[in-house]
Amino acid sequence: MTVKKNLAAATMLAGTMTALSFMSAGAAQAQGALVMYCGVQEEWCRAMTTAFERETGIKVSMTRKSAGEVYAQVKAEAANPRADIWWGGTGDPHMQAAEEGITDEYKSPKMGELQDWAVRQWEQSKGRTVGIYSGALGFGYNTELAQSKKIGEPKCWADLLKPELKDEVQVADPNSSGTAYTLLATIVQIMGEDKGFEYLKALHKNVNQYTKSGAAPAKAMALGETTAGIAFMHDIVTMVVDKAPVKVVAPCEGTGYEIGSMSIIKGAKNLDNAKKFYDWALTADAQKLGAEAKSYQVPSNKNTPIPPQAPKLNDIKLINFDFAKYGSSAERKRLLSKWDNEVKNLP
Ligand code: PLP
Repeated sequence: MTVKKNLAAATMLAGTMTALSFMSAGAAQAQGALVMYCGVQEEWCRAMTTAFERETGIKVSMTRKSAGEVYAQVKAEAANPRADIWWGGTGDPHMQAAEEGITDEYKSPKMGELQDWAVRQWEQSKGRTVGIYSGALGFGYNTELAQSKKIGEPKCWADLLKPELKDEVQVADPNSSGTAYTLLATIVQIMGEDKGFEYLKALHKNVNQYTKSGAAPAKAMALGETTAGIAFMHDIVTMVVDKAPVKVVAPCEGTGYEIGSMSIIKGAKNLDNAKKFYDWALTADAQKLGAEAKSYQVPSNKNTPIPPQAPKLNDIKLINFDFAKYGSSAERKRLLSKWDNEVKNLP
């Protein structure tokens, strides 16, 4: 009897709690909430969150993750999405998500203000992702360490294979990091797949650590924890601006670049707010926040001034990066598993 009573009370309590939690979720939505997964540097993610909250009164719950990690999370949550908007990070996992139908189509009234490359990203994804910034891949080195270890100035991708750089190069893991996937796709496009994988295997001998996040090698170089690091050039520029003894290199063979992207999650619970954020994030004013947060990409709104610190894309030998191919679900999965099997697990 007592057990039954307790059970009944517990059931009532659980029912009340469920109702309360539904009410509070509903109330949060009514007040205006937005759940954002953010793929750029934490500082810029926070600046965007704060400015949008101030402008709209919509409360943003933001989580920063690397590009491949956001993709994996959005995919895992697809049946019951937690996030509304995915802002930033390299375009490839956004393209993959678009192809897999886990993000939604949207045409912003701001499309007319965007650079052609940003619109092309939207067209290639059938309206499911849009370009918000662009930046070139490169590498850098700590000039003090290079001098003390008598390592000559590396200028080309080929220089990173030199024996004197053994255990002196840091780069991220392409499974988690959009930066490192851009490296994988870049090397394969410059050298061809067979030679490209030979290069990555040889590079592995000089890699001291595959980090989770793409910008970590830039920070490690600045701190003197690694002599060389592969990262987006704008992420290395951030270290130079902070007066670290680091030099940025645009590799002599040419290099790839990213189109940082934004997508609305399919089934977003705060869809109207996701669209509000999307439109706002494409404005010239919102895009100025990047440089203010020391992120020196090229913005996609034609009216946003290009930060003077941003690496000049016209002066860099950029490859004709095939975003559709390397952002396709099959190609991305194939290359990542080949890298896992043939490179990562080498001694
Ligand atoms: N940081 C900045 C400023 C970026 O533009 C990007 C890519 O868009 C990243 C980091 C990449 O992050 P990750 O390589 O960790 O996915």
